[in-house]
Amino acid sequence: MSLSQSVRPPAGDHPGRKKWDAIVVGCGIMGASVSYNLAARGLRVLNLERFGVNHKFGSSHGKTRIIRLAYYEDPRYVPLLRRAFQSWREAEAKSGKRLLQITGGLMIGREDGELVQGVLKSARTHDLPYEVLDPTGAEERFPAFTLGEEHMVVFEPNAGVLFAEECVRAFVGLASETGCEFRFSEQVKGWRSGPEGVELQTSNGTQVASKVVFCAGPWNGQLLQGLVPLQCERQVPLWFSSAGQDAFSSPKMPVFIMEEEKGVFYYGTPDVGHGVKVARTHGGEVVEPDEVRREVTEQDVAPVRRFISRRMAKLDGPPIASTTCTYSNTPDLNFVVGVHPADPRVVVVSACSGHGFKFGSVLGEVAADLATGEKVPFDIRFLSPGRFAQSGR
Ligand SMILES: Cc1cc2nc3c(=O)[nH]c(=O)nc-3n(C[C@H](O)[C@H](O)[C@H](O)COP(=O)(O)OP(=O)(O)OC[C@H]3O[C@@H](n4cnc5c(N)ncnc54)[C@H](O)[C@@H]3O)c2cc1C
Repeated sequence: MSLSQSVRPPAGDHPGRKKWDAIVVGCGIMGASVSYNLAARGLRVLNLERFGVNHKFGSSHGKTRIIRLAYYEDPRYVPLLRRAFQSWREAEAKSGKRLLQITGGLMIGREDGELVQGVLKSARTHDLPYEVLDPTGAEERFPAFTLGEEHMVVFEPNAGVLFAEECVRAFVGLASETGCEFRFSEQVKGWRSGPEGVELQTSNGTQVASKVVFCAGPWNGQLLQGLVPLQCERQVPLWFSSAGQDAFSSPKMPVFIMEEEKGVFYYGTPDVGHGVKVARTHGGEVVEPDEVRREVTEQDVAPVRRFISRRMAKLDGPPIASTTCTYSNTPDLNFVVGVHPADPRVVVVSACSGHGFKFGSVLGEVAADLATGEKVPFDIRFLSPGRFAQSGR
């Protein structure tokens, strides 16, 4: 039986049953931010989360995420990113928590590679500040790295680190203060469009809302029944001891992404209190979101240590910490954000493909615009939920 078919027929107006203005499904960074933004607009909001805040089974846990502006993936993200930076700062001011540290960012690869070409395209299209460095100049200025003659380095001054779990906690706190009700350990089992609203069948009963926003991360694929064709991928970030070396702290070490060979990307953050984070992005096992292998093995560690011995040799040594995390990839690696083509009362926010966290602050605003019928002040047509159905994928 499919998820949506498992919902009981509409129960009508039961006395005492509350109809919410909006229900948000999921409390990762997207759900937390959407919940706050809806509650801040005066809506009665319920957030349903099957686990708890910052649990280890989704995509938002861990100490840090990279944020950057000269977006190699696609210049169309840059207007959203400009606003994301501002709204992270606003969330900091409102919550009193430190969420964002600017470190600068190094994008390293061959001149004709996807990374360098993409960063330059975004920077030039949107007139963003950047510096191009040759490998020797970059090594002198940023001694954490050993580069090759073939490398071109683009330094982006605006990039930095988001303190991921603090970000989630900040939005949950702000949403609660603004009146949002959170119910943890309550799983949405299915949903249907009903005459009185959108009905959700949960592990605890039925809930009805005028609007529903799905922010279920890797589980959006199942809940939305193929509207969002997600392939989930296991990822293993690792942390290494800097042994107190200045070269691995900001400002000596910015966040970085390196295209080591065509299509093979490593990334990392300086030691901002938890060790130096280094990981390969993508290239992981395809998994079901409930069946991610959680133990970290030598197979996970060895490629990263080989990268470190080539490019960051002063960091050599076994990892001091690790975790597993799930990417939810769309076929084009762009997010899915918009109203459901079959029911405009349903909004979808599926922003991963390995790069969504930094957008959490602004996508909360965008989803609130979509749910309340406000005009979205960005061109998000390239993120439309209907695009895979149209392309037949
Ligand atoms: C290793 C790793 C590194 C990354 N690095 C970066 C980076 O440097 N920069 C960047 O911008 N992005 C990065 N990302 C991507 C970013 O972390 C994700 O885009 C973002 O966390 C997605 O958030 P989310 O809220 O959509 O999903 P999630 O955090 O997975 O939240 C979804 C929530 O929905 C809940 N849920 C699911 N199904 C149900 C249900 N049926 N009922 C109730 N609740 C449900 C889940 O329990 C979960 O809490 C990285 C991701 C990973 C895994």
